[in-house]
Amino acid sequence: MKYLTFSLLLLLGATFLIASCDDDDDCVETTWYQDSDGDGLGNPDVSQSACEQPEGYVSDNTDTDDTGSSSTSSGNPKAAFDEFNTDAVTISFDDDEVTIESNGLPNHTSPYWSSTNSLYIDPVIANASRMSPGTIRSGSYTLTAPLAPQKAANTSSTGLGAIGIAITGAPIFNDEEGPNVALSENVASGFDYAGGHMGPSGYHYHLESSDVPENTILSQNDEKLVGILQDGFLLYGRKCNATGDYPTDLDESGGHTSATQHSDGEEFYHYHIINEYYIGDYIILFGVDLQGTPNTIM
Ligand SMILES: [Zn+2]
Ligand SMILES: [Zn+2]
Repeated sequence: MKYLTFSLLLLLGATFLIASCDDDDDCVETTWYQDSDGDGLGNPDVSQSACEQPEGYVSDNTDTDDTGSSSTSSGNPKAAFDEFNTDAVTISFDDDEVTIESNGLPNHTSPYWSSTNSLYIDPVIANASRMSPGTIRSGSYTLTAPLAPQKAANTSSTGLGAIGIAITGAPIFNDEEGPNVALSENVASGFDYAGGHMGPSGYHYHLESSDVPENTILSQNDEKLVGILQDGFLLYGRKCNATGDYPTDLDESGGHTSATQHSDGEEFYHYHIINEYYIGDYIILFGVDLQGTPNTIM
């Protein structure tokens, strides 16, 4: 009996000792909230109390959407704007807006340059007899758009004229050659390898560029940035950097939310060139409706 009491006392003492070791006098437990999307904001619905900050938890509890999609509100990554041709394009950021100003002069070769220009080449793709008249001349294109564009309640159709500005500085047009006149194979056969030609307002692109050695800048069956459209969303090539392949989750505008080579892992909404022939074996840059609110390209 004596032996048993002693053992019990020993056990109690040991338990007390272990308990008091565990119990740091300076420890004040606080509540930590799960931050599964890593944006520094915690989920108010998932918490635990601890003295030290647990892995994946933060003290903030204001994340209304902790699934990662909240990071879409961060908008276009500024690094994407480094892709623009600085000889033609000036980019300026102002609070929550970005302004792209371009003289419209692309930094690649074309038979649409004046033959005295150093970028002039004989046609490599264009059917010379179907080339539109005129030579590339400077113009003025200015687009101001939100840096974090949002999808609008309704989609918007695009119109004649510039619907976006490509990284080369030349404007992006849609799938029309005139008021309600769709681009035809005849007209497209006069386009240069860049997928562009001359119009009354100047040189512009309609199509994805061609796979020719002369093409060193423009997106061709890859994940390069093509430009920015008038609703402020960026347009990338047919492939997405997030998977290195053709995206399979595109909406009817060719858009989806994912990271790109410019976003450091952050997901944001952007368009892709839709990977299908539009007319003949030509692939259109953007022949669908805009998901955002169009801004005028002046
Ligand atoms: Zn045109
Ligand atoms: Zn993508």
